[in-house]
Amino acid sequence: MTESDCLFCKIVSGDIAADIVYSNHDVAAFRDTNPQAPTHVLIVPRRHISTINDIGDKDRQEVGALYVAARDIAKAEGIAEAGYRVTMNCNAAAGQTVFHLHLHLLGGRDFSWPPG
Ligand code: AMP
Ligand code: ZN
Repeated sequence: MTESDCLFCKIVSGDIAADIVYSNHDVAAFRDTNPQAPTHVLIVPRRHISTINDIGDKDRQEVGALYVAARDIAKAEGIAEAGYRVTMNCNAAAGQTVFHLHLHLLGGRDFSWPPG
């Protein structure tokens, strides 16, 4: 399903350009245009899902595939052994600004905890 006004659906379909680093049947991944770390990749399901709250039982494969992609991209980026952070924001309090599910894969520097 493609939502006509969704930025990440347009990136998945190729209507809007992005620096794609990974793509398969279930997911696509591209570099964040406002990177918060030396590696900052967004991993999205190809099918539109708005937020974590909207994940259905039928979406299990795609949601799992996001993490499999994170593992592979971290390895390819050379950050797997040092460590990295994977984050998914949900709705306003967490700062979600694009309402197409996405994992942030961040690495190449140290991160503090708790997050701000
Ligand atoms: P969130 O705040 O969790 O919804 O994250 C949305 C992310 O999308 C932010 O980190 C933005 O920098 C990023 N972003 C916005 N537009 C684009 C774009 N056209 N290509 C790549 N990343 C984008
Ligand atoms: Zn979408």
